[in-house]
Amino acid sequence: MAHSTKRDYYEVLGVPRNASIEEIKKAYRRLARQYHPDFNKDPDAQEKFKEINEAYQVLSDPEKRRLYDQFGHSAFSAGGGGASAENVQGFVDIFDELLRGFGFEDIFERATRSKKQGYGPIPGEDIHLALEMELEEAFSGVVRTIQVSKEVPCDVCRGAGYDVSKGERVCPTCGGSGQVIYRQMFLTMSKTCPNCGGSGRLTEPCPKCGRKGTIPSYEEVNVKIPAGVDNNTRIMVQGKGNSGRFGGKPGDLILHIKLREHPIFERRGNNLYVDINLKITEATLGTEVEVPTLDSNQVKVKIPPGTQEGDTIKLEGKGMPKLDGAGRGDLIVRVHVSVPKFGLMDKLSGDAGKAKKLLEELNALLPQPERVRRRIK
Ligand SMILES: [Zn+2]
Ligand SMILES: [Zn+2]
Repeated sequence: MAHSTKRDYYEVLGVPRNASIEEIKKAYRRLARQYHPDFNKDPDAQEKFKEINEAYQVLSDPEKRRLYDQFGHSAFSAGGGGASAENVQGFVDIFDELLRGFGFEDIFERATRSKKQGYGPIPGEDIHLALEMELEEAFSGVVRTIQVSKEVPCDVCRGAGYDVSKGERVCPTCGGSGQVIYRQMFLTMSKTCPNCGGSGRLTEPCPKCGRKGTIPSYEEVNVKIPAGVDNNTRIMVQGKGNSGRFGGKPGDLILHIKLREHPIFERRGNNLYVDINLKITEATLGTEVEVPTLDSNQVKVKIPPGTQEGDTIKLEGKGMPKLDGAGRGDLIVRVHVSVPKFGLMDKLSGDAGKAKKLLEELNALLPQPERVRRRIK
């Protein structure tokens, strides 16, 4: 190592020469976090990280720091700034703090936990399906047979995810512990064994499912859809999702209701709306009309004389059933007045000609309404 190119250790950590040990630690943590190659992908970061560690090795040790202050880099020209055994623990402690600062768990705890998790029960995933329905079905409630594609435990390995006939053997890389010790720069670290994934055991993949432990299958599930469901109502069928593994609970089947548009009825919440057309004479004189309902019975509705375009008539309890079973919403009849279109008025004959004549007479007889509507009376 050429001394002329080596930067001053205080300069590397960005601290004054009289910095306290606390200041040095603080500066090191900040810089190590910034330049750690796991977090900083800059090509120079690795070199920089090495330099920071080297500087800290020396300045955090009172004896080495004294020598460095006295002799500079030449104090370490023989042995370099390498880690001595008694320093390693201190570095690991700081490194743990560093990881926690990023939201990581303690690396050693993590390694131990993942080893345990590998063979614990794994719950199955939920299956979400959209279910299209007619408004009539939502009105009455219905039983639907749903074809569910799902993952079920493999019948060859019984969900184990490896070739059970060949069994397991101890991982030679980690000796069955699931962890390997390695050194990075001056740090001694433990990590999950890459050979066995932390389980400590090695297996051959199952000839049927590989490593999954499950195979695709399908099941027919009869689902009772209650009366009153609406768009985006979710129906949950417990335990009919994907199977769990290693004794884990199966997931649920969750149906998302999608109602098709109805040709006659509009639904808003628990209320239904229906539009009817009246002749101008019916609207004027009053009448009785048959209005359709979703329970297929027509219902007779009285139209009072003088009914106006856009008037509504509420039929209580003739709407959608409520999901909680507490009765039904209303059916609201929206009344429209249909103005006859006779086409070319001059060439009319028969009833149309007669109607036109009567309308002309009627026109002369009807009182003139206020032409311009006042917004405030
Ligand atoms: Zn299998
Ligand atoms: Zn291993």
